[in-house]
Amino acid sequence: MPIFEYHCDKCGHEFECLIVGSHQPECASCSSKKVTRLMSACSYKSKGSGGETTGSSAGSSCSGCTAGSCAGCGTA
Ligand SMILES: [Zn+2]
Repeated sequence: MPIFEYHCDKCGHEFECLIVGSHQPECASCSSKKVTRLMSACSYKSKGSGGETTGSSAGSSCSGCTAGSCAGCGTA
């Protein structure tokens, strides 16, 4: 499941959104659809290591999510 980080252009709120199909992300704070996708450390790492999301070579903590580890991204 691709999880991306977004930055709201309207209020500046940053949030994560699980993208399913053509789902249009909107701000979790003000519901604005004017959001900018940020680079997600989790999705980048999962692509770089062939789908494995529990890579430990780059560090144990995930900078791309608030869960603290990439293992938490799937349930966020
Ligand atoms: Zn907003």
